[in-house]
Amino acid sequence: MYSVDDTIAAISTPLGEGGIGIVKMSGPEVPAILRDVFVPSRVGNRSDAYWLPSSQRLYHGHIIDPETREVIDEVLVSYMKAPRTYTCQDVGEINCHGGIVALRRVLELALQRGARLAGPGEMTLRAFLFGRLDLAQAEAVLDVVRAKTETGLKVAVDQLGGLLSREIRKIRAELVDVLAYVEALIDYGEDGIPEHDIAGSLRAASTALEQLIESAGRGMVYRQGIRAAIVGRPNVGKSSLLNCLLRTSRAIVTPLPGTTRDTLEETLNLRGIPLILVDTAGIAQSDHLVEKLGIERSRQALASADLAILVIDAHESVQETDREIAALIGDKPSILAFNKTDLPVLADLSGLLPGARAVWISALTGEGLAELENGIVDLVFSGQVASTESPMITNARHRQALLEAMHHAQTALETHASGSHIDLMAIDLTSAVNGLGEITGETVTEDLLETIFGQFCVGK
Ligand code: GDP
Repeated sequence: MYSVDDTIAAISTPLGEGGIGIVKMSGPEVPAILRDVFVPSRVGNRSDAYWLPSSQRLYHGHIIDPETREVIDEVLVSYMKAPRTYTCQDVGEINCHGGIVALRRVLELALQRGARLAGPGEMTLRAFLFGRLDLAQAEAVLDVVRAKTETGLKVAVDQLGGLLSREIRKIRAELVDVLAYVEALIDYGEDGIPEHDIAGSLRAASTALEQLIESAGRGMVYRQGIRAAIVGRPNVGKSSLLNCLLRTSRAIVTPLPGTTRDTLEETLNLRGIPLILVDTAGIAQSDHLVEKLGIERSRQALASADLAILVIDAHESVQETDREIAALIGDKPSILAFNKTDLPVLADLSGLLPGARAVWISALTGEGLAELENGIVDLVFSGQVASTESPMITNARHRQALLEAMHHAQTALETHASGSHIDLMAIDLTSAVNGLGEITGETVTEDLLETIFGQFCVGK
């Protein structure tokens, strides 16, 4: 199992030049390490060989190599005494000037004085192992760091605050009650045991589980975003549309390199949804293979996309290539965007992508863009209202655990209804209870912890 008794240290800020950089430490040796390597500026303090930092105070001073007396950096040091800290242990933070050399030297000094280099997510892992955060809350820490939109951030902060965990615990408690009752029945028979509405409890638990599972559709979109491919023949206005969407979106979140050499990806914030747009990069107009390339690149962009925006030049008649690309989309959720409507419309839209919503736009003037955006939001949420007030599942691991728990709860309900062996109910109920425990971390394996915390950065 993980060691939690030693002191860990890491650079907690991104590597590179910055305004400040922080070396963070957690563990019992923190005060001693600070005493060894830090000289507070207030004269007099250090004449006392037993000086130790006081909790919740910020000290100005210098980090000095105790062997050579070399000054490494001018710093601000904070110390927080266990247990009311991020990790539930003594925590020390050394705020250095942002340079990477100084940060590394400070970290090395801490390591020389007995700290061990922290693994990815090990600070948060300690918070989990000491019970300050449950597993779902610990996972939310990473979601907060990685949130791409305000809505994604709100959902993550709610989960960090325990909104999801409380709901899971409530359902789990209900199932534990039924399980306890069923086990009592097995052990003692019906005599003397107060009645319990098994069917009612199991139905309530199933409904609550079902609602959570349903929320995963929206929740996972807010957390991971949705990939939309902009496809169409060359020159219909795909790149213009991409630029137009980027301009009107509230924020460009991250420019990502394309998944293939020929595609370009941009993430934008569409009403709280991180929308990853995959565009097929510009194609040389003189190339006689241009139409073929258009199809090939559309195929590549579509391969990884959740939905498609098929752009058609409304100022021309619909061509064979348009139909070929439409056929590539198949039954992927899609929107048909008739572009260049500022020019006379010559295209006949009949028969293209039946079932897809059609919007009339001009990437040149921005006309119709709001309808296109509405269309995307409707497709993503299948017409559901995107409320973020109730707990939301944002993560495939949680969704899987809930699906399994619901399956077991429903099987237990069927066993109960059929009046068959009550022992079977106990088995299903135990599996359901354990499955829910995997979300909050009551039942968890070391492998799972490694997978989860391995995704964190070092120093978090
Ligand atoms: P792509 O090859 O599909 O990416 O097409 P581009 O975005 O490069 O556009 C091809 C040409 O069509 C460019 O000259 C654009 O300025 C023009 N274009 C794009 N959208 C519109 C539009 O809505 N109206 C008009 N009139 N021209 C447009």
